[in-house]
Amino acid sequence: MWKCGVCGYIHDGEGAPEKCPKCGAPKEKFEAVAEDVLQLIERSRYTNQLLAALMDLSDQLEDLAYEGIEDNLDPGCMGIFKYVQKAAVEMKQMAKAEIQTHISKGKWG
Ligand SMILES: [Zn+2]
Repeated sequence: MWKCGVCGYIHDGEGAPEKCPKCGAPKEKFEAVAEDVLQLIERSRYTNQLLAALMDLSDQLEDLAYEGIEDNLDPGCMGIFKYVQKAAVEMKQMAKAEIQTHISKGKWG
């Protein structure tokens, strides 16, 4: 992998790209990514995938909770559905914020 020295963009490949697709910096600005940093990037990508999956599941939970609230059978059920709805929204916001933090650092591709 190669990292743009200007904007931090990470390029997957044998050699550096002709120019940075993100900021347009020339090939000379790219440097090879060290092995330890490489592992960190891989791990970060994996974690981002997990967070994205969690957001998908939260969407499903929110839909289920919404249907349950619409159904409105009794206070016990309503309590559960309202709790799930609130938790799902919070989980989504937390996961989204964390992914954005990873991206805005610019280090992890
Ligand atoms: Zn760049």
